Amino acid sequence: MSQKTSAIKDESMQLQKDLLAGYFDDLTTAKERGKKVVYTFVPGNIIELLHAFDIVPVLPEINALQSGMRKRSGKFIGEAEKVGHSEDVCTYVKCDVGMIKSGNIGPTGQKIPEPDLLLLSYTGCFTFLKWFELLRQEYDCPVVMLHVPYQGDGMLTPEQRAYVVKQIETEVIPKLEALTGTPYDQDKLKGHLERSARAEDDFVWVLEAAKNRPSPIDAYFGGVYYIGPIFTAFRGTEAGERYYRTLRAEVADRLARGVGPVTPDGEMTEERYRLVVEGPPNWTDFRQFWKMFYDEGAVVVASSYTKVGGLYDQGFRHDPTRPLETLAEYCSGCYTNLNLPSRVDLLEKYVREYEADGLLINSVKSCNSFSAGQLLILREVEERTGRPGGFIESDLVDPRYFSAANIKNRLESYFQMIEQKRARPAAKRSRPQGQVEVQP
Ligand code: SF4
Repeated sequence: MSQKTSAIKDESMQLQKDLLAGYFDDLTTAKERGKKVVYTFVPGNIIELLHAFDIVPVLPEINALQSGMRKRSGKFIGEAEKVGHSEDVCTYVKCDVGMIKSGNIGPTGQKIPEPDLLLLSYTGCFTFLKWFELLRQEYDCPVVMLHVPYQGDGMLTPEQRAYVVKQIETEVIPKLEALTGTPYDQDKLKGHLERSARAEDDFVWVLEAAKNRPSPIDAYFGGVYYIGPIFTAFRGTEAGERYYRTLRAEVADRLARGVGPVTPDGEMTEERYRLVVEGPPNWTDFRQFWKMFYDEGAVVVASSYTKVGGLYDQGFRHDPTRPLETLAEYCSGCYTNLNLPSRVDLLEKYVREYEADGLLINSVKSCNSFSAGQLLILREVEERTGRPGGFIESDLVDPRYFSAANIKNRLESYFQMIEQKRARPAAKRSRPQGQVEVQP
């Protein structure tokens, strides 16, 4: 593997680093600058509306995953378990609770300001509800809940959309007006939505570049960096738009040169396996995890995790001409709000469209929203595509549940299975060959 990296790549990574550092600096000084702070979750966030009120958002999952990457989450989880949170509770929640109990010092070592409001966009994961119940016990601040109907029938009906819009109009906006003392400005919201849509175009272009051979990106390990700004505080901002413009130029350059993704050890020179991955990544040992893939020449060409904050690649764009309706549609369409048949359809489509060798599931026991039904998803996608599935297990931010040897063994078996499948004559390839070491 060569150590070559491009200048354009460095620019996008630097931009992202600066965005993140600036964001945590902004958080630290938010109160002294007279800004209001609202906590809200990544899936189904209506960040453009918060920007329209000049509010500083805090996304608890981001604090948790950043703490995981910086090896701080294990201690926080221990603190949460000491006060009674059981082992199978979502480890993002325990990491957040432990961080609060330890003085609310964020992943960068800077203090996270207390919320002036908790804005719960409820999109499919019941844990969101329980998480904010816990935060409400910690902080003396109002809560507003935006209830987004689950896509039980695989679609958002006009009545459901109207129901969400009404809540934004009659619940969310009045609360934000009262909090900030500022009237709702629809034109300002439209401006943010326009910027979102432009960034979304560039983002989708980047994701779809993985349809090429070799793929110029890794759509899971690299993808988690690419989703950072658009799923969080930077959607609808000029800085976010600039990031995606730069990233697109970088990936276009890689595509033109016919080179593979950049990894922490340099540029991948050989693409041996193309995978679709379902499930969130592990953050505590992220680099070691990724290395197990690129050392084998495995590139992830599509993933469900990069859709957790919206399925832009399926055509959704924020539409400034219908500002509140578009927010409602956005909330409803994120991956956590999709039913199992929709998830199966999506993953099958990815395996086919991205010409993947198969579907690999990283099952995270403590994330019910993803792990419920994963075995069914795996079997169904195998059956439909005739391509083998693989199954590994880890955790989001609990270092106790990352077993490198176990994951490596299973991955090696999975890659061997793909090789065997390739070696068989086409006529015999019509039936799936079963999955690798599936353990419910
Ligand atoms: S259970 Fe999963 S989707 Fe729900 S909050 Fe935890 S990590 Fe997020």
